[in-house]
Amino acid sequence: MDNKTELMKALIEKINLYNYHYYTLDNPIVSDKEYDEVYYALVDLESETGVVLPNSPTQRVGGEILSQFVKRKHEHKLYSLMKVRSFEDLEKWVEEMREFDKNTAFALEYKFDGLQLVLEYNNGEFVNATTRGTGEIGEDVTAQVRTISSVPLKIPYQGRLIVQGEGMMTKRALEIYNRRAEIPLKNTRNGVAGAIRNLDPKETAKRKLDFFCYSIIFCEKRFKTQEDMHNFLKDNGFDVGEFFKICNGLDEIVKNIEKVGNVKSNLQVDIDGMVIKINNVSPREEIGYTNKFPKWARAFKFEAEETSTILEDVIWQVGRSGKVSPIAILEPVELAGATISRATLNNIEDIRKKDVYLHSRVFIRRSNEVIPEVLGLAEKFENSVEIEAPRYCPCCGMSLEKKGPLLFCRNHDGCKEQIVARLTHFVSRGAFDIVGLSEKTISQFYDELGLRHFSDLYSLTKEQLVGLEKFQEKKAENVLVALEKSKNIDFSKFLHGLGISEVGIKTAKDLAKRFKTLEGIKNASFEEILQVDDVGEVIAQNIVDYFKDADNLGEIERLLEVGVSPKHEDAQKSSVLEGFTFVLTGTLPNISRNEMTKIIEENGGKTSSSVSKHTSFVIAGEEAGNKLDKAKMLGIPILTEEEFLSKYIDK
Ligand code: NAD
Repeated sequence: MDNKTELMKALIEKINLYNYHYYTLDNPIVSDKEYDEVYYALVDLESETGVVLPNSPTQRVGGEILSQFVKRKHEHKLYSLMKVRSFEDLEKWVEEMREFDKNTAFALEYKFDGLQLVLEYNNGEFVNATTRGTGEIGEDVTAQVRTISSVPLKIPYQGRLIVQGEGMMTKRALEIYNRRAEIPLKNTRNGVAGAIRNLDPKETAKRKLDFFCYSIIFCEKRFKTQEDMHNFLKDNGFDVGEFFKICNGLDEIVKNIEKVGNVKSNLQVDIDGMVIKINNVSPREEIGYTNKFPKWARAFKFEAEETSTILEDVIWQVGRSGKVSPIAILEPVELAGATISRATLNNIEDIRKKDVYLHSRVFIRRSNEVIPEVLGLAEKFENSVEIEAPRYCPCCGMSLEKKGPLLFCRNHDGCKEQIVARLTHFVSRGAFDIVGLSEKTISQFYDELGLRHFSDLYSLTKEQLVGLEKFQEKKAENVLVALEKSKNIDFSKFLHGLGISEVGIKTAKDLAKRFKTLEGIKNASFEEILQVDDVGEVIAQNIVDYFKDADNLGEIERLLEVGVSPKHEDAQKSSVLEGFTFVLTGTLPNISRNEMTKIIEENGGKTSSSVSKHTSFVIAGEEAGNKLDKAKMLGIPILTEEEFLSKYIDK
């Protein structure tokens, strides 16, 4: 046997093992990204050699099915989808399709990343549900599917109907489930598969699943196009998802794939790509099928957001409130266009629940704008060892206090990492905004100038600063000017800068608006604070505790003594924007984003950081990104800076 056949055999063995864990046990041991790399290595070898070994997974749909379930033979064979690996591949396929039907348009749909289900109806009633299984035989999951509230149990159509769709768990349902779960689910796909292929329908019901319907396998009624099927399904009460688009050619398909790609991480459903089907039904039989795929459809897969890597170490980081949190140090791995070497792990209970170990292989996820996180265990090895929570502060050595799953260092005034984190927050943009002071510089001030308290910043001298390494005269002057300027500070920024636990910029603004002065908030009762927007009991208690603490009050007093003067400008100038929510994106030509936010708020409007159906307008500048695309998709009016000012402000 030659080397290539040997290699193909080894790949087949590997893929079959992965398939068993993924399809049969619903507990994958590698990420889809890693699976696809091995799978396509086999596809490429098969096409290079022209040899396809008899048990090749490239010729079969799915994996083995669970013996505990009653099996059901599918009346019509079910297929997987052939993936295109580039827009060039897609172009070739579009041209091929045009040879069969030169006028056909293309239906573009989400590629839902869940569990395929086939549902049968008769006389307007739900009869049964089956998993895709091997494509020929599936598992009877009727009782489980009955618990899904978006599966209609009665439909207007009275004939016999077999539909195809995807059982899904939304990101929100996953989050809610994981909050209480003893063993958290790694992702929504495993969540839905494990819930439906579970003999106890009560367990299925707990996971609050959804069903999105995308195709008709059998119906006495004839359909001319995919669009007709889509509308028929919608009219019969099926949830067809929020995206369906008819595209006339390659450019339109590509444009829409890119658009959805930009907003996909904001969607509630996990999609791993887009499906493109020729819209006309009549040429489909002629175009035909391979053993595994319909030739008249293709899937375009988005760049993967999950992979696995080795958890090499865990370091414990002390935050500004003294909270000591674990950070995973990973063997560097490429994911979604970046090299990932660190990820969050939350706390020790989270580590135990996720069942991850030092020197084990773990799944990680990185989606748009979110810090990478460890999802759970992929593989444990002989040298894998349990992660221990520290008993002493890794920075100052003080005994740590345990509060629920969290660890705290209470050495408020003596733990360098805490103090540096607090001071770094104090000088940050949303607070006192002292340019040129990074965490590294603050650490240098701590070591060499004895900086400990916020108020110490205001007694720094030029001589002290220029005496430090890498501190030229100009830089020293800039820091001193910024410090001087920061004394006249907006009350909300002042509050934010104090670093009260869980009081972010938005809460600080709401508190400033409600209490107006330092005296006002110092004297506010727990109940009064609780009435502020989005302030719950925990935050209200943090605020009350903060202003009861003699050290905190002393420090505030010292800040006032050095000339810091927080003022709340009663901002509202008009109420022309009352009831409107704006989202800003891109660089505006004349006004900074902060100023624009101020103008909106002064006129009674609100701003939000993400576009949703509740957004009234998007104000877009140059190089606007995802938010602009999402606004266009949702049909939200878009304004330039000039249009906004002339229509609403300068009237
Ligand atoms: P697939 O999941 O990539 O694509 C086909 C499936 O997409 C269909 O069967 C259907 O269930 C679904 N689908 C979603 N939206 C659809 C729509 N609008 N129209 C039609 N179908 C739609 O293919 P597959 O054969 O089920 O699985 C192969 C993939 O599964 C691999 O590429 C890999 O990502 C993953 N996998 C991973 C492992 C692992 O160990 N991590 C193992 C096996 C498979």
